[in-house]
Order: sequence, then structure tokens, then C-alpha cells
Amino acid sequence: MENKPIARKLRLLSQLMELHEVNPFKIKSIANAAFNVDKLPYRVSSKTFEELEKISGIGKSVAAKIIELVQTGTMLELDELLESTPSGVVEIMSIKGIGAKKVATIWHEMGIETVGELFYACNENRLIEAKGFGLKTQEDIRKAIEFKMASSGKFLYAQVEPEADKIMNGLKDMFTNTLMEFAGEYRRLCEVIDELIVIVGSRDREIAFHTIQHSDILKSLTVDSDHLVGETENGLKVIIYVVEKRYFHKTLFLKTGNDEHVQAVLSREAEEPDQPESEELIYQKAGLAFIKPELREGDTFIVKAANDQLPQLISYNDLKGTLHNHSTWSDGVNTVEEMAMYCRDKLNLEYLGMCDHSKSAFYAKGLSIERVLQQHEEIDHLNKKLDGFHVFKGIESDILNDGSLDYPDEILKKFDFIVASVHSNLKMSEDKATERLIKAIENPFTTILGHPTGRLLLSRNGYSINYKKVIDACAANNVVIEVNANPLRLDLDWRWHQYALDKGVWLSINPDAHRNEGFLDMHYGVIAARKGGLYKERCLNALSLHEITEFFKSKKK
Ligand SMILES: [Zn+2]
Ligand SMILES: [Zn+2]
Repeated sequence: MENKPIARKLRLLSQLMELHEVNPFKIKSIANAAFNVDKLPYRVSSKTFEELEKISGIGKSVAAKIIELVQTGTMLELDELLESTPSGVVEIMSIKGIGAKKVATIWHEMGIETVGELFYACNENRLIEAKGFGLKTQEDIRKAIEFKMASSGKFLYAQVEPEADKIMNGLKDMFTNTLMEFAGEYRRLCEVIDELIVIVGSRDREIAFHTIQHSDILKSLTVDSDHLVGETENGLKVIIYVVEKRYFHKTLFLKTGNDEHVQAVLSREAEEPDQPESEELIYQKAGLAFIKPELREGDTFIVKAANDQLPQLISYNDLKGTLHNHSTWSDGVNTVEEMAMYCRDKLNLEYLGMCDHSKSAFYAKGLSIERVLQQHEEIDHLNKKLDGFHVFKGIESDILNDGSLDYPDEILKKFDFIVASVHSNLKMSEDKATERLIKAIENPFTTILGHPTGRLLLSRNGYSINYKKVIDACAANNVVIEVNANPLRLDLDWRWHQYALDKGVWLSINPDAHRNEGFLDMHYGVIAARKGGLYKERCLNALSLHEITEFFKSKKK
């Protein structure tokens, strides 16, 4: 056994001991030994106990541990500590810049048990106020996690977007009179992206290929017959196909849709068009209306395209307001007034729905009944001042373990609308979790079901639910389902939007903003909703102020 893995195990042992507050003297001696073992010019595994204990900085007790490790491949004390620590917490400990003391705070005081939850907490500013943290630590941790996420080779759409822009601009600087377009997952607006694909169509393919090959647009560039593969600074894989101009549209079509989609379209054509002048032509030849890139997954939209029933997809400008947002009353950064002004003056919206956390969400300063009433007073006062803009009184009510909401009915009825969300006990069985959601959906005060699965993309799977049952219950009880627009959530997943729409369920694109900039996440919500095939007639926050006022009123009856 080499020294490195031994040092690593000793270091982990000392960190876990610190996390569990074992005797500080012992912790120090093991941490020291880990440091020393790493530096020794010979293998400690070849030494006897007697030789080991004489090495400076090792001593008797660590020597015994090293012998145990070399002989059995493990250390009993380490195994025991690992057993009493959630694996996600151990993973958090491996992030650069977070010592055991901070991990203890994160775990015990903030209830965070996975890297994903920690990343989400950074994005929601929850670390700033925790003991021993601060803005800089939070930023460092966020960056370290982003770096760690990148090592999986997968990226959130929102992380890819700026990289994609940079690459496209770089290519545009290189070429004029050349066709260029993204393809693959990025063009299909997928929520998670493995590789960024670009198609370049040039009149002189050889020269274009050569130019890219000798540019510094990508790192570690390798070439294949018809494409180049490289990566961006942060490790995103990029593939650039270079084709002759006349093959551009066909290549674009072939490389955009997923396999099932491409095959389904081609199978409808008597003869595959060789050099089509546009993608539209390919669909036309197949007897289909043009299918937008984001809908090119499988064959769901092929039937609709054949019957000319494709939806007019929602766009950002269709949104008239924003629901589900947090202010300084709970865990947000801006005041209600600041958020209202931002929505009115910067985003040109007609209304803002405040949904601070409810009383059970203690970690997020959830509102007691008294504070709910105080907030309502503030909002009433504000609404008198605001011209042509309205703040709705909402709450993000925790769905408790038994599916009930977080306040008595006399309080629940005071809100204009209620978003019901699960924030605790995420490890329920599918049956239990589904039952809990349905109970909340059946509550007459529930207006919107918030982030239905609690997933954090690339970092935490949602709790499993029976989607059909949950959506059916929303249809039966006239409950809207949220498309949470935070790029880490995008929950309800787009794969279920059609089912919901077919059942007559409305969707709402909610940013879950915890500060003014958070409203901009609606961009990602729109992207997810377009992919799901949402159109403005069934999007709650595409209703005008007048319409949504009526909607809330009729729901409350
Ligand atoms: Zn929430
Ligand atoms: Zn929220």
C-alpha cells in the first residue's frame, strides 16, 4: 500500500472525529500523522509496528492504526464513524474550503445532508447568516461545488448557456458567410447537458475545418473525420461538425432531434432528401408541420404535427406576473417593496405573488401567525401606493408529514393564494409521498402545488411520486402545478407537462425568487415549459392582473 491512500484515510478519520467532536488532542495527532505520512520518502506499509512508532509525528496509537489498515484494509474506528454519518455529509467534507466545524454547522444546524442541498442553499443565500460563514465563504463553496459538478461531465442548461454564447461568438469572429447553429441537447433546451454540439456549414469545408483546428476556441482539441472534439475551460465537452454548406440543414436536422424522433420523421419519407434547403422542407416531405427543436424528443409531437395541432409555445413575453417569491420576511434578500418595484419597473409585470415560508420552515425563518398578519398589513399598505400593479398575499405552506398544511383554516383563508410544497422528510416511500401530496392537493385552500418532487438537478433526486395520480388529483381539485423555474429544479419535469395539459391542469412558471435577480430565472422556466409543450392559454401567470384576480376569487369560493 502506498503512503497516499493511508494518509487520505487518516485525514478522513481526523475530520470525522472533529465532526463528531471526539477528543481534540487525538484529532490533532491523527491529522498531524496524516500530513507526515504523505511526506515520507519510503512506504510506511513496509514498516513494523516498532519502526512506525519511532517515526516522528506518528507515535504509538497511529502506528497501530496504520498496521490495522495495512493488514485488514480498513480501520474499525473509521468504519464506525462513517456508519454514523450520512454519505452526503461525508461528500460535503471532501469539498475544498469546508472544514469539519463548518460541516457540523451545515449538517446539524441547517439540516443539509447532501452536496445538492448545500449548493441550493448557497444559491438561496442561506449560508451568509450561519455562524462562521459569510458571503465570501458561501461564494467559495458555491464555486467549489460547481467545479465538482463539472467533473461529472454533466452541466445544467443555465451553466452551458454563457459557454455556448462564447463559442458561437468565437466562431462568428472566425468566419463570414458561413452557416452555424447549435444542435443536440442544447438546441433541444434539455435541462441537463452532456455535450454541446455545433454544426458549421461552409462553402470550403477543408479551410473551415483547418481554421477551427488551429484556433484556440477549445481546449484539448482532437479531430475526427467530420468533426472536432474539445472542451471549454470548465470541462464542458464540445463537438463541432464541419460540413459543406449544401449538407448543413440535413446535418442540423439529424444532429438535433433524439434518435427516436429523427427515425420517426425519416420513416415517413419515401425518399430521404439529400440536400434540403431548410429543416422545414424535411418536415414538409414527411407530411408534418415544422416541429421546433425543443419538441424533438420521441414521437409525442409527431402525431400533433401530422394533424397540424402543434401548440403555439409559450414565450417569456407572455408572462404577466410572477407568483411564489420570498422576501426578507422569510429567507429572501429584498423587501416586498423592492421586489414589487423591480417587477413593475424593470420587468414590466402587472403583479407579484409573495410566498414567504410558513411557520414549520424554521431554517428559513418561516412566518408565525402573528408575522403573517403583520406582512398582510404591509402588503395592504403597499398596494395603496402602487399604481397599476398589485402584490398578492400568498404563502409557501409546508406540506406536513400527514399532508396537512401549516396553518389553521382561519389563517389559510386570509391568503389570496397558497403554494403548497414539501420541504422536509424527503425520504418517504413512493406510496406515502404520493398520498401526502394528494392530501395537500385536496385541501380546498391549495392553489398551486410547488416543486412537486423536490429534485435538485445533478445533485439530489426528487422523492419518487406516482405522477399520474398526483396530476389526476390536481385535475380533480382544480389545483395548478408549478414549473419551478430555478435552473436546479425545473420541477414539474417537462416530460409530464403533456399529461397534465391533456388532463386540463394549468401550469405556473414560478421563479421561487429569493432576491430581485431571482426573477430572471423565469427565463429557464419558460424554456422547460416550452419543452413540455406549454402554451400561454394554460399558464397561470400568463393571465393579466384582472384575469388572475378573478381566478383566485373563483378558486376561493
Ligand atoms: Zn420551496
Ligand atoms: Zn419557495
